[in-house]
Amino acid sequence: MSCEKAPEFHPAYPVEVTFERMLDLDHAATTPLCDAARAAMDPFLTANAESRYGNPSGTHLLARDAVRALDEARETVAAAVGARPSEVVFTSGGTEADNHAITGGMPPRSAPAICSAVEHHAVLDPTLLLGGSTTPVDRLGRVLTDELAARLADRRAQGIVTGVVSVMTANNELGTVNSLEPVAAVIRQEAPDALLHTDAVQAAAWLSLPRHVAAADLVSVSAHKIGGPKGVGALIVRDPVKLAPLLLGGSQERGRRGGTNNVAGIVGFAAAFSATVSDLESNSAKVSTMRNQLADELVSSVDGVRETVGPDVAQSLGLRSGRGHLLAGHCHLLVDGVGSEELLLLLEGRGVCASAASSCASGALGASHVLEAVGAVPQGAAALRLTLGPELDSDDLRRITGAFSDAVGRARSQL
Ligand code: PLP
Repeated sequence: MSCEKAPEFHPAYPVEVTFERMLDLDHAATTPLCDAARAAMDPFLTANAESRYGNPSGTHLLARDAVRALDEARETVAAAVGARPSEVVFTSGGTEADNHAITGGMPPRSAPAICSAVEHHAVLDPTLLLGGSTTPVDRLGRVLTDELAARLADRRAQGIVTGVVSVMTANNELGTVNSLEPVAAVIRQEAPDALLHTDAVQAAAWLSLPRHVAAADLVSVSAHKIGGPKGVGALIVRDPVKLAPLLLGGSQERGRRGGTNNVAGIVGFAAAFSATVSDLESNSAKVSTMRNQLADELVSSVDGVRETVGPDVAQSLGLRSGRGHLLAGHCHLLVDGVGSEELLLLLEGRGVCASAASSCASGALGASHVLEAVGAVPQGAAALRLTLGPELDSDDLRRITGAFSDAVGRARSQL
């Protein structure tokens, strides 16, 4: 986005600062469509002699061309996640993939799910709606495996079968990464019939999924968090897991999802995933270095600012990895003496887009269940999520630091 003068967003905070371009520090909400995805999608979207607009459910030449495109995309997505092509079920995004994994399709599984207390609402809501429950996390947001084991054992003692255990690969608000092998070991011990689902929607941009999600039976991914288009994703359903379709009305996706495939979107998803995997190491190294600089600078240059799950919290739990427990782009801060909404508006007026929690449909800044679960509900403080992307540079970091200190000073002066 580019604009010459910031628009006025809120009468209480007249915007005085002009800026050349908005700095996007909300990459966890979404990412711009990458060039590779746009180029790959183009033939499927453009009406000309070369247009590839066929419906892959048909049998003629145009249809077979679309089937070929889907097959190629399926192979690419499978390789990026460490799965077989036959295990990929394309969906309308992360939300559908999560809903599908938790419900088990239509009709829903009778065995309830259990999920970590910091899951995205796409996992949490269907879990609770269908009579499931949550299991606690530590101060960083990592699932407590002893607590999970106790809950599964308790259910078993009561004769309750657990259908699925869902633990996200990395949290969308805090950026904290979970290790799935110990979770899988607990399931093998306490609920051997339960499936392990992981929401890898945020992790896909920064972690090598074949390594990080190998222990999971079901894996959710979403295109728009990795430079692909919105409204496309996938649920990996590992052989020999059987899953009823969530959407009925067609035999697409080997009977696991009815409905005509979003061919252009899927092709863009695959191209974006491939580019993400190619650049994963260099982007992670670059962005985590910038994130570390930014976090250090913001905490040291402005009083009353602390990292919610930073190195000091990690150290208090015996970790010596600095910010090694976090995704590369995440920096979550608590800012004393400021309201979240005011701070976001003041930052926006200074050309910086950020978030207070996960973006929700209404844009409202409700209390975050994630901060509650990690015991970090801000009292008289703003919660601020900054999520960086690889297009930022050191000049941008300087601008962000300036905007942040200015915005915090302005908000505090108005209290
Ligand atoms: N899961 C996580 C962890 C997310 O961060 C999001 C999006 O914010 C979703 C699921 C939902 O994905 P989508 O926007 O593709 O429906």
